[in-house]
Amino acid sequence: MTTVNENELTHPSVILLNDLVRRASVTPDDAGCQDILAQRLEALGFHCESMRFGEVTNLWARRGSAAPVLCFAGHTDVVPPGPEEEWETDPFVPTVQGDLIFGRGSADMKSGLAAMIVAIEEFVEENADHQGSLALLITSDEEGRARDGTLKVVETLQARGEHIDWCVLGEPSSQHELGDVVRIGRRGSLSGMLTVRGVQGHVAYPQLADNPIGRFAPVLADLHTVNWDDGNAFFPPTTFQVVDLRAGVGFPNVTPGELSARFNFRYSTEWDHERLKSRVHEIFDAHEIDYELEWHLSGEPFLTQPGRLSEAVVAAVKEQTGLTPELSTGGGTSDGRFISPAGADVVELGPVNASIHKVNEHVKIADVVTLTAMYRRILELLLG
Ligand SMILES: [Zn+2]
Repeated sequence: MTTVNENELTHPSVILLNDLVRRASVTPDDAGCQDILAQRLEALGFHCESMRFGEVTNLWARRGSAAPVLCFAGHTDVVPPGPEEEWETDPFVPTVQGDLIFGRGSADMKSGLAAMIVAIEEFVEENADHQGSLALLITSDEEGRARDGTLKVVETLQARGEHIDWCVLGEPSSQHELGDVVRIGRRGSLSGMLTVRGVQGHVAYPQLADNPIGRFAPVLADLHTVNWDDGNAFFPPTTFQVVDLRAGVGFPNVTPGELSARFNFRYSTEWDHERLKSRVHEIFDAHEIDYELEWHLSGEPFLTQPGRLSEAVVAAVKEQTGLTPELSTGGGTSDGRFISPAGADVVELGPVNASIHKVNEHVKIADVVTLTAMYRRILELLLG
């Protein structure tokens, strides 16, 4: 078993990570995490505002009033631990084993938060009169419904004309080793809830019934064979997946009167949700089918064009690890989908994501220390 060196165990960002993991902040409960962060930021001259919406606690903290605004963003909430008997350690007692710390939220994303705070402390100590403004946008509603979190804070900031220029999200972006992947955008996510209406009947008298399964089958085939797009320089091709399909009354000689289905698109910047919806309706309308379709948009795709932010992030990763990160738009959605439409460049850089949301979630202790150095370097390059 690889052991950890003492200096890493007592590094301020590792100590802060442990303090945060000890708080069982299962979404949307912040469990006092943001108080710990706000206290440290106030000591550095940040103006801290707690923004409460419903059950959700958010923190907006800012140091300075000038532009440009560099904002670190993230969330204090975690997903539930799942079956505790499958954990080798108590999920809310940070536990060192070899060169790893185990605990719920250790990778997603309390190590990102700890690294941000300590990087900012180190940076402000040496650059009290930094350029522009430094900010943090922290929510406790990223893992849940995500309605009263980052979205509402961004709306509040927009309403009073406060603008974010650059945003670094501390989500676990890395795949195999720290810094190998940096996210510069995310695919859009659009879900459809479908109902197909028919007429229930006797299986032996189909002419007296209208089977919605037979009606939907050719539409489904079309939806599956359409080449939605080939992707582009930054995005993989758009995908269509059915996640649920049900019909039937549970009796072998009765054909159903209704079919329901749920499907989801993960789509590239070749589409926006309105055009994608119209295309789907065109496909349905080319068939004889009585249907109703409800839509839910989780987020439009976004992309941060190469520029000063991505250059600073890539340079920081290279200096600390020697790696040239892959600039990716893969993975699920993140709160970047709310920050980017307000006109900010958004990049995600955080620890390895292999154990997130699983039992025995963990982070490599050395990575917490290196991530702190990367964030500090980004600060120096953009506001130093
Ligand atoms: Zn996360």
